Amino acid sequence: MTGTAPAERRAELAKNLAVVRERIARACLHAGRAADEVTLVVVTKTFPDSDVRLLYELGVRDVGENRDQEAAPKAAACADLPGLTWHFIGQLQTNKAKSVAGYAHVVHSVDRMRLVTALDRAAQQAGRVLTCLVQVNLDPVAPEETGRGGAAPADVPRVAEAIAAAEALRLGGVMAVAPLGVDPAAAFARLADVANALRQDHPDATMVSAGMSGDLEAAIGAGATHVRIGTAVLGSRPTLRYRPNR
Ligand SMILES: *Cc1c(COP(=O)(O)O)cnc(C)c1O
Repeated sequence: MTGTAPAERRAELAKNLAVVRERIARACLHAGRAADEVTLVVVTKTFPDSDVRLLYELGVRDVGENRDQEAAPKAAACADLPGLTWHFIGQLQTNKAKSVAGYAHVVHSVDRMRLVTALDRAAQQAGRVLTCLVQVNLDPVAPEETGRGGAAPADVPRVAEAIAAAEALRLGGVMAVAPLGVDPAAAFARLADVANALRQDHPDATMVSAGMSGDLEAAIGAGATHVRIGTAVLGSRPTLRYRPNR
């Protein structure tokens, strides 16, 4: 990976992107939806900022990261790219809210009241407005035991209300990861129910972030507006973590 020449890497990313865009288009067609209803968020975690630049050249304007330690320097290294939207998609500790509020545009993983408070304060201090999605835990058995984050469906209205009431936060909608061992179509159908209920009270909260490399078709079939795709675009993640070189 590190030895791949830029031209070769660019060609690889271009090819993978074309395949993923085709998958999205076909899934939209199959679901009777317009292809522009779905935004591709390319998850660049563990990959270098040189890949973010290549993706940008290839037309990508939405990138996702799941760890602040990695995302903060990467966003700083790419600050010269106009119109690039950073999506924070990982579990977030309240003590990282200040850092994340400095570069993220959308936070997909808001799942508790304390995090709402911390993000709002941090966004106000940074003079920024963050779009927040309520992460929903779709594990049918024991949401609190999966350790993967997310509010139980019953808690979603309360967290959403807090986001909507916060001065520097905007309620975008909902996000979920399909639980292991569950049919993703069933999980995403459940998410769609949560999203529909949320829109009764918050008509502008139209974002549904669902679907990864393995299950984007099921997510689009259930109404996803944002798919978060890593492996299918960038390849298998290297075991070594990204380290900023400046
Ligand atoms: C890593 C990650 C993705 C991308 O997963 P792939 O299977 O590589 O496409 C999507 N969502 C979240 C929350 C992730 O952490």
